[in-house]
Amino acid sequence: MKILSVNAGSSSLKFTLFEMPEEKELISGVFERIGLKESFYTIKIDGEKNKKDAELPDHKKAFELLMKELKDNKIIDDYSEIKGIGHRIVQGGAYFDKSVLATPENVDIVSKLSSLAPLHNPAAVVGIKAAQAVVPDAVQTLVFDTAFHQTMPEVNYMYAVPYEWYTKYSVRRYGAHGTSHKYVSLKANEILGRKDTKLITCHIGNGASISAVKDGLCVNTSMGLTPNAGLMMGSRCGDIDASIVAYISECENLSAAEINTKLNKESGFLGISGVSSDARDIEDGIAKGDERCILAQNMYVKKIVDYISMYYVEMGGCDAIIFTAGLGENSVLLRKQVLEKLSCLGVKLDEERNNVRGKQTLITADNSKIPVYIIPTNEELMIATDTYNLTK
Ligand code: AMP
Repeated sequence: MKILSVNAGSSSLKFTLFEMPEEKELISGVFERIGLKESFYTIKIDGEKNKKDAELPDHKKAFELLMKELKDNKIIDDYSEIKGIGHRIVQGGAYFDKSVLATPENVDIVSKLSSLAPLHNPAAVVGIKAAQAVVPDAVQTLVFDTAFHQTMPEVNYMYAVPYEWYTKYSVRRYGAHGTSHKYVSLKANEILGRKDTKLITCHIGNGASISAVKDGLCVNTSMGLTPNAGLMMGSRCGDIDASIVAYISECENLSAAEINTKLNKESGFLGISGVSSDARDIEDGIAKGDERCILAQNMYVKKIVDYISMYYVEMGGCDAIIFTAGLGENSVLLRKQVLEKLSCLGVKLDEERNNVRGKQTLITADNSKIPVYIIPTNEELMIATDTYNLTK
């Protein structure tokens, strides 16, 4: 059965088509600069990438071109072969604890949650409507980044702010990257050969979050009401003293929205190093002895270690730690620095095993008290799996 996994942004549309349940990736790609000048798209089949310029006035045109590419490349003969389309939704609030069908009622809730994800939810709704218009017979589903975190207990999702902020404005922790945390925790349980596990899953990319996953269910996660909580990140500050906002507002005569932009776009690696939000540039800076790059890295490592140790205590131990996403899968240095700081928990790094990028690997020694794995994430496949199960 052919299942399409879709991630629509305001001016982009990423997709991967799978043959399910075989989990075979048939084609993937991305349409970029939708609604803008000089739009184009890239497709990848059998590892071969092809970039094409195309006028993309809207997401519907992108879907039409995608379907044409599928036919031209003989991946399908007819649109009706696409049985399911799964849409990534960043914010499902407290409404969705699992993937659901894209009924008008459910899509309406996604729209109404836009105030909690203004950059993402409206774009996803545009993507859903475009897909429904072009491939009306496919089952359309909604797969939420927040759903996996809905099993968190109240004590972990509540903030110590006036209670009415929760009842009136839904202020609470929702988490993010849930599809990734779910995917790697399922894979880790497969590796460990059991489901009654205590896992700490570290999704360390440009955006980064860590989750505590017990018996397959999320019990805590570092991201909050928005994806700017917990760890420091590429350009996001993560957890800070909330009073900084009012203080800087006075010092610099900035609005809350302006400060929010600085906390999201000019902080983290970028803010501290003054060099870049990209970890590779930070690593280059460290190699050259740049003090602020070294400080940025040390702060990042410390935050990751803080969360791992917090969740270790919270779950009363840990059966495995998982690293995934851009840095988690690829940064040999970051993993080494984090694992060295976890030696008091009996974690023993194996430098040779750790010298790997983007591959499922055990990176600790055989006598490490906690095994640590790299498990490359695959959010697209997770979306396709949920969509396949709902379509069946
Ligand atoms: P993501 O958001 O998951 O795509 O991750 C992006 C981050 O991963 C960026 O900060 C990249 O610099 C980082 N990254 C990717 N490849 C490497 C690498 N080989 N070494 C260090 N960091 C990397």
